Amino acid sequence: MKQMEHWLDGKHACGHGTRTGPVFDPATGRQTAAVPMGGPEDVNQAVRGARNAAYDWSRTSLTRRMAVLFRFRQLLEEGSNDLAQLVTAEHGKVLSDSAGEVARGLEVADFACGIAELLKAEHSLGVSTGVDAYSFRQPLGVVAGITPFNFPALVPLWMAPLAIACGNSFILKPSEKDPSASMWLAQCWTEAGLPDGVFQVVHGDKDAVDAILAHPGIDAVSFVGSTPVARSIQRQAVSMGKRVQALGGAKNHLVAMPDVDPDTVASALVNSAYGSCGERCMAVSVAVLIGDGAGQVVEAIRERAANLVVGPGNDPESDMGPLVTQAHRDRVASYLDTGVREGANLVLDGRRHAVRGDLGGFWLGPSLFDAVDPGMSIYQDEIFGPVLCVVRATTLMEAIKIINDNPYGNGAAVFTNDMASARQFEVEVEAGMVGVNVAIPVPMAFYGFGGWGSSIFSDHDIYGPDGVRFYTRSKKITSRPLAHRGSLNFPTNQ
Ligand code: NAD
Repeated sequence: MKQMEHWLDGKHACGHGTRTGPVFDPATGRQTAAVPMGGPEDVNQAVRGARNAAYDWSRTSLTRRMAVLFRFRQLLEEGSNDLAQLVTAEHGKVLSDSAGEVARGLEVADFACGIAELLKAEHSLGVSTGVDAYSFRQPLGVVAGITPFNFPALVPLWMAPLAIACGNSFILKPSEKDPSASMWLAQCWTEAGLPDGVFQVVHGDKDAVDAILAHPGIDAVSFVGSTPVARSIQRQAVSMGKRVQALGGAKNHLVAMPDVDPDTVASALVNSAYGSCGERCMAVSVAVLIGDGAGQVVEAIRERAANLVVGPGNDPESDMGPLVTQAHRDRVASYLDTGVREGANLVLDGRRHAVRGDLGGFWLGPSLFDAVDPGMSIYQDEIFGPVLCVVRATTLMEAIKIINDNPYGNGAAVFTNDMASARQFEVEVEAGMVGVNVAIPVPMAFYGFGGWGSSIFSDHDIYGPDGVRFYTRSKKITSRPLAHRGSLNFPTNQ
C-alpha cells in the first residue's frame, strides 16, 4: 500500500500530523494508499513557501512565465495517458472518460498559455493636459484551490494554470478520495521549470480546509464541491477578508420536445445521465419529457441503460465503472427505496445490474425513475450517481417553470429542431450553462464555467476571462511626466 505525502517547495513532504485517510480502488474495494490529513502546521508550511516564491514569480517576465506554461502544457499532453490511468485507479470512471477529463483540462492550460494577451491593459492618452491614465492587473499573491473527487485532474486544471500564469503561487487541497492526480500535476509543474513553492499540495479534509480559510497569508480561495460546503466556505472566506469563488452542486435538466426522434433523445439521456456513473456536476439527472411520445422515450432509455456494461474502468469493454466509495454507493442506492416510497415508478433498478469484475467493488448499475414529481426528494436532492428521474410535462413553458423553481442552476439543455423553442428556452431558463441539442454544455476554456442559484456562490466564473479577473486585481494609474505643485483644490481635468 502506498503512503502518500504532501508536495511542498518542489518535493515530497511527510507533514506534521499522524492522521491519514484511506484511498481505494473502487473497482475492487481494496485500499491502495494512505493519504496524510494535513492541519494548520502543514498549511502554515505551505503558505510560507508559497509566499516566499510569490514575490519573484510575480516579477518574472510574462515571456518567461509563458515558457513554463507551454512546457507544462506539453508535458501534460505527453503524459495524458498516465494521468488518465491514475484518475481511473482512484475514481473508478472508465479510461476513455478519464482521458476526456484530461483533454478538457488541457484546454485550460492552452488558454493560460495566452496570458500575455489576456493581461493586455488599457491606456488613455491625455486625459488632462499632459496627463495620462492607464490601468493594469497584478496578481493577488497566494491563492488556494479546494477541489472535489469527481474530476481529480480537471478541476485543479480549471484553477492552477491561470492562477499561476497570472503570477500567483497556488496551494491545492485536493479531494482526499483520489489525491494521486494532484501529485502527478505537481511533478509536472516542477519538470516544466516552475520555481519551487509556486505550486504546493496539502492533502486533507475539513481540518486542512479550515486552516486554509483561517490563514491570513492566503489571499483568495477557489472552491468546487457540494452546495452545503460551497455555501459555508464562501461565508467563512468572506469573513476572513479573502476573495472567494465557490461552485456547488447541481440538478441538471434536459427538456425533450416532441419533435425529436425518441431514440436520439434516449441516447443523449443515457450518455449524459450514466456516463462517469452520474458523478459529473453537469450530468443530466432529470429528463423533462413533453408530449405523448414520452412513454416511448422512457422505454428506449430503459432498453439502452439495461444493456450498458458495468465493470472496471480499465476494462475497455466497460461503459460504466463503480462509484467512488462504498459509503457513496450506499447513499445513492438508498434513493432507490426512497423514490419507490415516495410513489415514483422504478423502471430500472441498478442494484440488479450484472457486473463484470471484483464483487468487492462499489458497484451500482443505471437506474431509471418515471412519474417523478418535483415534490419528491429524489427530484430535489443531488443524488450524484447513475439515477435518472423522468418528469412529464405538457408544454415548454411548464418545463421551463419546473427548472426555474429548482434551487440549482448549473446546466440545462433542450432537445428540439424548432429554432423558436430553442431560443425561448435559452432566454427564459435560469441556469448558467445551457445546451441546445447538447446534453452536457460544458463551456470552452475561453468562456468560463459557472452556474446560477445554489450552484455558485460568487460573481466570478471559474477559468475563462473571469478566471483572469479573479486571480488578479486592477491598479489605476494617473501619470504626469513632469512633477507639479498642485493646489488645495480638488483635482479637476483641464
Ligand atoms: P465535497 O463538497 O464533499 O468536497 C469538496 C472538497 O471540500 C473536498 O476537497 C473535501 O475534502 C472538502 N470538504 C468536504 N467537506 C468539507 C467540510 N465540511 N468543510 C470543509 N471542506 C470540506 O464534494 P465532493 O463529494 O468531493 O464532490 C462532489 C460534489 O461537487 C457534487 O456536489 C458536485 O455537483 C460538485 N461539483 C460541482 C462542480 C461545479 O462546477 N459546480 C464541479 C465538480 C463537482
